[in-house]
Amino acid sequence: MDADDDSRMSESKTIHERSTTGQKGFPPLFGICRRGTARSFTWSRPALGVQFALPGIPGDRPRDPPRNHSSGTYHRPTLSPMTDALDEPTRDVQRVLVVTAHPDDVDFGAAGTVTTWTASGIEVVYCVCTSGEASGDPTTPPETTARTREAEQRAAAATVGVREVLFLGHPDGRLTPSLELRRDITRVIRRFRPHRVLTWSPEINWEFLVTSHPDHRAAGEAALAAVYPDARNPHAHPELLVDEGLQPWVVHELWLADGPPERRNRVVDVTDVFPTKLAALRAHRSQTGHLPDLAGDIRGWLAETARRSGLPEGRLAETFQVVSTA
Ligand SMILES: [Zn+2]
Repeated sequence: MDADDDSRMSESKTIHERSTTGQKGFPPLFGICRRGTARSFTWSRPALGVQFALPGIPGDRPRDPPRNHSSGTYHRPTLSPMTDALDEPTRDVQRVLVVTAHPDDVDFGAAGTVTTWTASGIEVVYCVCTSGEASGDPTTPPETTARTREAEQRAAAATVGVREVLFLGHPDGRLTPSLELRRDITRVIRRFRPHRVLTWSPEINWEFLVTSHPDHRAAGEAALAAVYPDARNPHAHPELLVDEGLQPWVVHELWLADGPPERRNRVVDVTDVFPTKLAALRAHRSQTGHLPDLAGDIRGWLAETARRSGLPEGRLAETFQVVSTA
């Protein structure tokens, strides 16, 4: 965090979550992955019956450089600001599960929001479907890249107050919303019993297509199916109940990132936690270390999101589509 960021952050005092009915969202600048075909990789999946070390269970790129980075010109549609904002209570939410495709997805798209949650006492666990091995120097063994990126994600998670990160070991660049992936996410849901799941939209954002990486959409579609109906249906993936004793669980709320702008109905004011989000992003050194002005670019993106969401001048925001799944 540089001094300039600190001085700007000192002006901010409050954190808000608001519904944004009619809000025209703003696609993230960096929440994007464009990857080649993953090379052969041997995965070590969690075997059936293996206990995850999940806390609090009751009863027990290189990422593509930012587009137009050097020019600072971002071509986005002109959108109307949000007009009817409401505060979002979080007092009934004790546990949140975040499901992403790749290491760093959550930090580009939602680390500010996660920080507000952990700061309020909510327990958050990350579930990352791949280990991000289909990135970086092609001469680097994918196993090496995977271990590097896992370590970076764990460090970033610790920065925002998340103590547990699970990697499901599905192939980067070839992720599909398979029954196997649905089962693996369902297993995590039934163990951790989250009240809220945050994942990526399975829909395409046609206004900014590159945010809709197929892996992101696959992770979102599988997570959506795990939330409803798999986690709550005792007949879904019966081995989870029969062999592992995992009881059905109902997730009450689903938050979707990077979806079509017209779907986004919640804006989270992340102004006060911007330094933490930036620190989390910098933990992904293999993905962000080469970017000359990460702080400025992220700040600009979040400020524009806030402006288009109707927040006061000087605020920073992340936006989501929130769906009741109770
Ligand atoms: Zn990604």
